[in-house]
Amino acid sequence: MTTEPPAVDRLGRDVGYPPHVPAGDWRRFCRQTVVLPAPTGCVLWLKPPRSDGYGQFWVQGPGPELAPAAEPTLLEDLATEPPAGDRAGRGRVWRAHRYAYAAWHGPIGPDVQVMHSCDEPLCVAREHLDVGTNRQNANDREHRGRTARTGLLGARQWGGADARGPYGRAVALHQALLAALAAGADAEALDAVLADVGAAGEAHPGQLSLDL
Ligand SMILES: [Zn+2]
Repeated sequence: MTTEPPAVDRLGRDVGYPPHVPAGDWRRFCRQTVVLPAPTGCVLWLKPPRSDGYGQFWVQGPGPELAPAAEPTLLEDLATEPPAGDRAGRGRVWRAHRYAYAAWHGPIGPDVQVMHSCDEPLCVAREHLDVGTNRQNANDREHRGRTARTGLLGARQWGGADARGPYGRAVALHQALLAALAAGADAEALDAVLADVGAAGEAHPGQLSLDL
């Protein structure tokens, strides 16, 4: 058995290996993340966000543990995000946080929602992800005072005060993280970026980018 090289985040920190996905896919996944220090502890997705504010990850070909044919309960992502050629088994797009959860815990059913205890949609931290039903997720959103849809009501309710909506906020965070990384930011500085992006949504509704 060969020894795999460490799976590291964008800043080179070892993330470790989950049991349910191929090592090569996981290394590629981790290089698209950055691990924030405690107590935040979020692992933020660095690729452009989806329109719903979540990260997305392309997996080429069905992995042995995540093969659509072998695990029909995993077709949920295919149904919601079918890229060209997907059904031919050449690959599939996952929401990044769902992929991370399945990587650590194994296959998840179509009615299972992966939720964030940190309330950060771009987070893929193992410790911040938990599962619930669609109904639980809807109740959770309602409880937190936000909806999944953008628009006046949903946007106003996002995060309690963020007028940018899920996608606008995700884009702002994505841009801010990439700019900070390009400027040589360390993990502590990125932690501050996350806080600043959250605060900017409250202070400057509608703003889509930050001056760093
Ligand atoms: Zn998190």
